[in-house]
Amino acid sequence: MIVLDLEWNRGYDKKPLDEILQIGAVRLENPYNQIVDTFNICIRPLIHKRLNRPAKQLPMLEDIQTSGLIFPKAMELFRAWCGQEQIFAVWGGDDVDILRQNCSYWQVPCVEAEVVYDFQAAFSRRVETRQSVALYRAVEYCGIPDSFTYHNALNDAMYTALVGGWLREKDLNMQEIPRQLRKLAETVFPPQPRRKLGRFLTIEAALNSPACRQQACPLCAAEGWIQQWYFHRGVPRYYGAHHCPQHGWFLCRLTFSRCETGGWRAHAATPAPTLRFLQEFYAAAQDQSHICKKLRRISTRRKQNRRPIKQRGPDTDK
Ligand SMILES: [Zn+2]
Repeated sequence: MIVLDLEWNRGYDKKPLDEILQIGAVRLENPYNQIVDTFNICIRPLIHKRLNRPAKQLPMLEDIQTSGLIFPKAMELFRAWCGQEQIFAVWGGDDVDILRQNCSYWQVPCVEAEVVYDFQAAFSRRVETRQSVALYRAVEYCGIPDSFTYHNALNDAMYTALVGGWLREKDLNMQEIPRQLRKLAETVFPPQPRRKLGRFLTIEAALNSPACRQQACPLCAAEGWIQQWYFHRGVPRYYGAHHCPQHGWFLCRLTFSRCETGGWRAHAATPAPTLRFLQEFYAAAQDQSHICKKLRRISTRRKQNRRPIKQRGPDTDK
């Protein structure tokens, strides 16, 4: 298993890329999860002219700014170091997505991560909290001596690995995201504004409405239709996929808030397809679904043609 950590700079210019500044990783060997090798590389930034505040405070900033390595070469070295390894672990869901984004920006191959464990989510399961715990808090909690500076990618990878030793097998077993769905993480698009979609008498009416179902491709604005929504029972948060013939699939999240005057207000968002968001989507997709009305009518009619209609039962699809 390889535990990976990245430091990056989030640009506020028009280029939607979290530019990687440092790649740190440790290799763990079973059965004792012993650290057997380390990888550390600083990368000179070329995309964004300005550093954001967290990037300015990185302990390795000087090495980053004077580094002779640019991302494609750094990635080549990292891939070579990873070898055939297909199991990765990270703290929080972002790092692997950001690695993929940078690879897709530079058009270089990424690592072949078959399984990516999110140790942060696993740690929350271990200590039975629903909140995400910061790495330094987890280190403190586990009583690991914190003698190395945080926000140095190698040190953070090492701390993540040490906290990992504290996790049980069952903490790691989260829903694995299918490869097909994970492919969506490679599509990079600019951040999309949250959209107000008006007021609806019922949530069901909203889910069936063209306003909620018709979503634009974040890259070319081509309209695609959502045909099915996924959700957890009792949670007014819905997930749907829409397709652009040119750019592929995108995932939309629909949330609702109650209106003071009655009914529901719908908001749509197209978040970046981070592992965390894909996990959210996938978990909902395995739970409940709502097939949009027009399609449901067709399928009901087909069923009715096959068997005699005894009586009209209540609509159970709610
Ligand atoms: Zn498109």
